[in-house]
Amino acid sequence: MVDGNSVVQKLMDQKSGAERVVNTQGVPMLTGYAYVPSANWGIVSQTPEEEALAPTLKVVLDMFGYISPFFILLLLISFSLTQKMVNPLRQLANYAKSVRTAGTEVQPFPTIPTWYYEAEQINHAFQQYAETLRHKMNVIKRESLTDPLTGLANRRYIENTLRQWTETKKQFSVLLLDVDGFKKVNDEFGHQTGDEVLRFLSQAMKQHVRKGDICGRYGGEEFIVLLPETSAETAYLMAESLRMFMSDTVSPTGEPVTISLGVGTIAPQIDTKTLLALTDEAMYKAKQEGRNQTKLMRTIV
Ligand code: GH3
Ligand code: MG
Ligand code: MG
Repeated sequence: MVDGNSVVQKLMDQKSGAERVVNTQGVPMLTGYAYVPSANWGIVSQTPEEEALAPTLKVVLDMFGYISPFFILLLLISFSLTQKMVNPLRQLANYAKSVRTAGTEVQPFPTIPTWYYEAEQINHAFQQYAETLRHKMNVIKRESLTDPLTGLANRRYIENTLRQWTETKKQFSVLLLDVDGFKKVNDEFGHQTGDEVLRFLSQAMKQHVRKGDICGRYGGEEFIVLLPETSAETAYLMAESLRMFMSDTVSPTGEPVTISLGVGTIAPQIDTKTLLALTDEAMYKAKQEGRNQTKLMRTIV
């Protein structure tokens, strides 16, 4: 029996309608009721709520079954699209980080595939920025290692190279050379001409060395040549060739300017500092013995 007092009451009030009613067994029922005026009857129809809603639940579950693969696919597509969009930006960020931590060694701009306009714009701007930075860094680096008057390597570059060669146990020879009577050149022809003589000597040095040899300005009118994988004999011949060229060729003063040279070769029992000291000693010997000559460093046993 329905605990339908409320429904019965409504029928008696000649009302019709529908509502959820819990019966005496505690089962929720969907109840429809209608008052029929011609017969003065009230009709009540009841279905357990669970039974009534079962088809609806099935429809919902079926719908979920149909839709969920599409939903998952959509999720995967949007995830992969997001990844594709973020990737170029991530690569740009990594490159920017590498530039920040690189010191003077700026890596070339990597090829970053971009497939949408905004990323391409950022990529392009970044590329230009990176190339400008690289160029400026290279100029600064080159300038910091170059002698401005002669364009030869400066003392810092020479010292760096000697340090590297020592670390790698490279075999090499070295020439130290100094202009003879250069003070007189300055006094007689002026500082400007003196500078031109130094540039003239630098050109001659470059012409007398091989590819891979390094010419540097070591001090005022003192120069150095680093000769990798070169014996003392070969180094001596190269020194003599340069010396003779200078003494036979008219300089910017209108007459030849001579040079004195020392030749040294690295050996297991000496370090770079000692090598330079011994080569310098040889050069001063050349000065003492009359200038315009080449001397080999004394051997240390
Ligand atoms: P020595 O034969 O013994 O080498 O005599 P020197 O006159 O060449 O040597 P000294 O050390 O007496 O003089 C070197 C001169 O070189 C003195 C200095 O003014 C000049 N000098 C150094 N650097 C430069 C430079 O960059 N340009 C010019 N024009 N002169 C320089
Ligand atoms: Mg001199
Ligand atoms: Mg000198």
